[in-house]
Amino acid sequence: MVFYKTEEEIQLLKQSCDLVSRTLAEVAKNICSGITTLKLDNIAEQFIRDNNGIPGFLGYRDFPNTLCISVNEQVVHGIPSSYELKEGDIVSVDCGVILNKYYGDSAYTFLVGNGSDQKRKLLSVTKEALYKGIESAIEGNRIGDIGNAVQSHAEKMGFSVVRELVGHGIGRNLHEKPEVPNYGKKGSGLKLKTGLVIAIEPMINLGKKDVVESNDGWTISTKDRKPSAHFEHTIAVRKEKAEILTTFDYIEQILN
Ligand code: MG
Ligand code: MG
Repeated sequence: MVFYKTEEEIQLLKQSCDLVSRTLAEVAKNICSGITTLKLDNIAEQFIRDNNGIPGFLGYRDFPNTLCISVNEQVVHGIPSSYELKEGDIVSVDCGVILNKYYGDSAYTFLVGNGSDQKRKLLSVTKEALYKGIESAIEGNRIGDIGNAVQSHAEKMGFSVVRELVGHGIGRNLHEKPEVPNYGKKGSGLKLKTGLVIAIEPMINLGKKDVVESNDGWTISTKDRKPSAHFEHTIAVRKEKAEILTTFDYIEQILN
């Protein structure tokens, strides 16, 4: 079933979302050539705990870490490790926290140092696709309008949309109904109304859409080994314009 949130619950979700956004900014401060992805994970875990939160992914279905860190051809669910980031890598960092019993969920893909024009374009188009999806997340529209907006933008720019992984409702559970695919038909699926809080999270590939799961049981990578990007916001559906509960402002203040 779909859980519609009260205004009080949305305010609590907003606090969780603020912590997740500030945690990603801590990662942004530290991301550089030579740092291991496990070190970034440690920084995020410490920051969340220092702010009275609980890492939302750690232990979720036995996931071993606080962050999912997915480099280059890895799409999502990468496990932090001793891998040292290097110039030109693109790094998707996905973070979830629990604060006051509610989850926040957000992801940002970083470029380490200078990268190819293609990788830069992939990052900007994936982020644009996320905001196109959010523009469609208003009362009276349907879930399919969100996916259609994401897909249309990504494909128009020559990229492809991962089908196997989707956005989701969020609240007291990390993953609630409905599923929020990044592709779809206009006017299809659940009708959106105020109180629905969802994570919209396009995963966009530079090459073909197909993905494979690695034998660690978690990491999803592109089948053609070409780069993939991932951006995610948690949003609340509203009448005129969705309210974005997470923010990239903290991250982008550091990057700029
Ligand atoms: Mg996420
Ligand atoms: Mg999510």
